[in-house]
Amino acid sequence: MSTVYNFSAGPAVLPEAVLRTAQHEMLDYNGTGVSVMAMSHRSPEFQSILHHAEQDLRQLLGVPSNYAVLFLQGGASAQFSQVAMNLAHGFASIDSVVTGNWSRIAHEQMGKLTAAKIRLAAQGGERDGLKTLPSVGDWDICTESAFVHFAANETVDGLQYGEMPHLSDGLPPLVCDMSSEILSRRINVADFGLIYAGAQKNLGPAGVTIVMVREDLLARCPDSIPAVWNYKAHADRQGMYNTPATYPIYIAGLVLRWLQTQGGVGAIEEANRVKAELLYRAIDGSGGFYRNHVAPEARSKMNVVFTTGDAGLDERFVREAALCGLRQLKGYKTLGGMRASIYNAMPLAGVAALAEFMAEFVRKNG
Ligand code: PMP
Repeated sequence: MSTVYNFSAGPAVLPEAVLRTAQHEMLDYNGTGVSVMAMSHRSPEFQSILHHAEQDLRQLLGVPSNYAVLFLQGGASAQFSQVAMNLAHGFASIDSVVTGNWSRIAHEQMGKLTAAKIRLAAQGGERDGLKTLPSVGDWDICTESAFVHFAANETVDGLQYGEMPHLSDGLPPLVCDMSSEILSRRINVADFGLIYAGAQKNLGPAGVTIVMVREDLLARCPDSIPAVWNYKAHADRQGMYNTPATYPIYIAGLVLRWLQTQGGVGAIEEANRVKAELLYRAIDGSGGFYRNHVAPEARSKMNVVFTTGDAGLDERFVREAALCGLRQLKGYKTLGGMRASIYNAMPLAGVAALAEFMAEFVRKNG
């Protein structure tokens, strides 16, 4: 089979080396004669897998020791309401920043199981027909709110905070959906009360969701919610309250180890910058053939969204690209056009092949 590059927004490309290791260990993990899939979550082998995954994540992101790391299930969508159930008990409001598809859904879902009112603290805007992000100084924050929620990278719309927002002391804790950018750049975890991320973009297969939460906030988790939804119940039992998603955690552990072999988050951040630049240059240098509707400072380095402005031509682009091994480039169902998701595991060669295809497509159709 000729080389295939997978630009899916998620579940997304995984490092080939990780898949090969998983293949090699599939039937017999580490001489146990048992697959990780068929191993008790309480076995010493799985306990070691979980321990190392957590330690590697802590090391790669510099997670301070006063943060709990949880490997939960239910996807980032579960977090929209779980974070409110746990951290907003007894509070009158939650502040929410809406900048695109996912933070909008979070805004709608967050209030379902809490008495707290969801305040719209800020929303995305437009400048010269280009989508913009509200700068953190313009967020209308209520100091009494339980927390402030935002998404660092909007996977569908292709918007990302270039400089990660942080709030000054005395303001509510910041809660961030980092599903489509976790481990793609350096962050200061201590700027956040809680970070969550579904694994299936930068971390592993679907089925596990990372939650990093400052331990003092766990005191807020009310006994009145079912334990399976309670962060503290999971933290108190070292992730063993119930059966965790063992195989996705194992693969995430392999991805974390792979990240270290790549030079860690700093090195991956630089590689991601180069990859994104290559695609935006292909768009901007196409003489208007391709368009991206995001203001330059808000352009995502993970999800590059573009269109020719002609739905039929976009469709042809996606079809012909797939024939050249450039797969899953179709834009989100509500937005149309194209979307190239270029997460950590997408090699530069894949992005270069796409940029080349884009130029060739202009020559044929421009
Ligand atoms: N937030 C963001 C930023 C996402 O990209 C996604 C999935 N594409 C979600 C939330 C929802 O994740 P899940 O499907 O795992 O619930």
